[in-house]
Amino acid sequence: MTTQQPEEVRDDGEPQEPQPTATRPPKDWAAGVPGIVHALVPAVRGMGAGRTAKLLLSMNHKDGFDCMSCAWPDPDRRKPAEFCENGAKAVTWEATPLVVEPEFWAEHPLSDLRTRTEHWLGQQGRLVEPVHKAAGSDHYVPVSWEEAFGIVADRLGGLATPDEASFYTSGRTSNEAAFVYQLFVRAFGTNNLPDCSNMCHESTGAALGETIGVGKATITYDDFALADLIVIMGQNPGSNHPRMLTALEEAKQHGASIVAVNPLPEAGLKRYKNPQTVRGLAGRGTELADQFLQIRLGGDMALLQAVSKRVLEAEAAAPGTVLDHAFLAERTSGLEELAAHLADLDEAAVLAATGLTSREIDELADRYVRADNVIVTWAMGLTQHAKAVPTIKEIVNLLLLRGNIGRPGAGASPIRGHSNVQGDRTMGIWEQMPDGFLDALDAEFGLQVPRAHGLDAVGTVEAMADGRVKALVALGGNLVGAISDTVAAEAAVARTDLTVQISTKLNRSHAVVGREALILPTLGRTEIDRQASGEQFVSVEDTVCAVHASRGKVGPVAPGLLSEVSIVTRMARAVLGRRPGGPGPVDWAAMERDYDAIREHVARVVPGCEGYNAKIRREGGFRLPHGPRDSRTFPTDDGRAHLTVNELAPVECPPGRLLLQTIRSHDQFNTTIYRRDDRYRGIKGGRAVVLVNPDDLAELGLADGVTVDVHGEYHDGVDRVLRGQRVVAYPTARGCAAAYFPEANVLVPLGATAETSRTPVSKAVVVRLEPA
Ligand code: SF4
Repeated sequence: MTTQQPEEVRDDGEPQEPQPTATRPPKDWAAGVPGIVHALVPAVRGMGAGRTAKLLLSMNHKDGFDCMSCAWPDPDRRKPAEFCENGAKAVTWEATPLVVEPEFWAEHPLSDLRTRTEHWLGQQGRLVEPVHKAAGSDHYVPVSWEEAFGIVADRLGGLATPDEASFYTSGRTSNEAAFVYQLFVRAFGTNNLPDCSNMCHESTGAALGETIGVGKATITYDDFALADLIVIMGQNPGSNHPRMLTALEEAKQHGASIVAVNPLPEAGLKRYKNPQTVRGLAGRGTELADQFLQIRLGGDMALLQAVSKRVLEAEAAAPGTVLDHAFLAERTSGLEELAAHLADLDEAAVLAATGLTSREIDELADRYVRADNVIVTWAMGLTQHAKAVPTIKEIVNLLLLRGNIGRPGAGASPIRGHSNVQGDRTMGIWEQMPDGFLDALDAEFGLQVPRAHGLDAVGTVEAMADGRVKALVALGGNLVGAISDTVAAEAAVARTDLTVQISTKLNRSHAVVGREALILPTLGRTEIDRQASGEQFVSVEDTVCAVHASRGKVGPVAPGLLSEVSIVTRMARAVLGRRPGGPGPVDWAAMERDYDAIREHVARVVPGCEGYNAKIRREGGFRLPHGPRDSRTFPTDDGRAHLTVNELAPVECPPGRLLLQTIRSHDQFNTTIYRRDDRYRGIKGGRAVVLVNPDDLAELGLADGVTVDVHGEYHDGVDRVLRGQRVVAYPTARGCAAAYFPEANVLVPLGATAETSRTPVSKAVVVRLEPA
């Protein structure tokens, strides 16, 4: 059944999130009994007790399904309940029996859907039938699968060149679906394969790829328990990968110290009440961060350089006692240049950039030098800055100085935010896959796929805006909701001739569409996938390169739903089948019939996946090979890890302005809004807020609780505005503000991207607040 809820709509017709009904001081601990209540009550209400028990108790288990939310890895020994509050919310959201009924489409024209918020759209239930919006119409109408694939084939076939289409992928997509999707896109004739990684950890891949030769984490799950020091930078594990708190608690129990570096004092960085222990339920829980560095936005690179400089000074004071000389000599290059560069580092500039004191930095450096094994872990608080790539290279510098890569308990640990975003990249979802991969595709399938690099996410939006891209196909996700510069991005999408969205539920990308649009509903992770050869499983890769199987546990929410693999392979047959030379050499039907056939191809094309069908059937799966982690071998141009010299470029913020970052609430996953609360930050009932330090409010002459319009300031002269935000006095770093993603994307210019990675700069937007 469909639901209709009251909704706030602006007088300009755009959706407007309500302001909160209450604000309270932020919490200083995470999880505990409230974590259980907020996981289970909505689950039982939304799915019923039986479905809840069946799904939650098989989630993240070796014979179960993989959580569709974040990419946090699984421990080898699993507990009966191997999920967190937000994993339970993700399952509840997907496995709801509520469906969008056929009459919904007549009741809600596009012009109505465009006024709805992400929260409302997501509440309407599962999509269960293909629908089509014809050019010039304001309504989606149900169509058959055959009609839908016929429309896609007709429109893609009518493009002047395959490069006029772009094919987006979300991080939920399985390895099997990702592999057939990139194969289809390349067989069609383009490398336009943007994905959600372009907007999050692209900076990580670029920095690690250049410095150590592999753009992925150099640790395993077990390394957390072996670390002496864990530095958590630009990351909010309590909300974005909550099971990490259990790993941090175990590390503390083994004697590790933790340093948190963040502009916001997040609850999950402070104290953890593990809901699976008596101490966590009835006691005080575990104190996490031993040191909290409340850094100014954009100050991380300066902090890292200052710590490395102190490490080098400690070595100079006591030669032979601090640096790992043997490792540096045998396995790295660039030490002399780095030392010379850091010798000139200006401490005053560091303090201005970081907002920290010299003593705070001294303390971190001291902890680093005293620790035998160090992990530095990070997320989008680092990756979404203009200088994100050099900042992450500075993490590598710091780790390499003391040999903290490629040994137990030590390493670089980017934490990916979406369950299979890393696996999708491994399977070839990238607009610039190396020629070796493309050569292997050609050899395996008898194809000649294009070599020219394609468009990334920002590039796709730019190309839609100027008419170079006329068709957008999206395998999951919500590109228009997630990308920067909402107004410009929505205008760009509206210029296209066709948008095709493969989805489980409604979001903004179904409301803001091309002249013609299709929605193709698909099975979720929780659902059993039956094909002609029998029940199928898929596979995924977590943030530490562990690959394992995922099996749906409940029947599809409606008959007639197709899996992502079915949709992609049938689309490929329809599109390629219309070509003059016929559909080509790929046996799409065989891969749909039995996913083992896909994995056989993967085994021959994707490095590290040899024997995939056998290895994926091992209990718990397998770990992809990783030279730096496994044997301290670095697949760079000279076979060494690179210490690099990076010029400091502090973020400037004029007087009377603030630096704003976009953040997620505790009740959201990417653009999916489960509820309008943010429990740990004390925000209830609304998301239209801007969090500002009380001293900054006093300086700006603004009071807590007033309503402001937030204006972005960028050198292109465009007035980007987030209207109607309630000011909340909040203990963020001085000079820094925060507002919720995706609403605040409207303030992030499309042209503001990180150097090299082109990730949108969402963590340092210059803004001014004006009373509304
Ligand atoms: S930590 Fe991440 S993967 Fe694990 S249950 Fe929670 S949301 Fe899912």
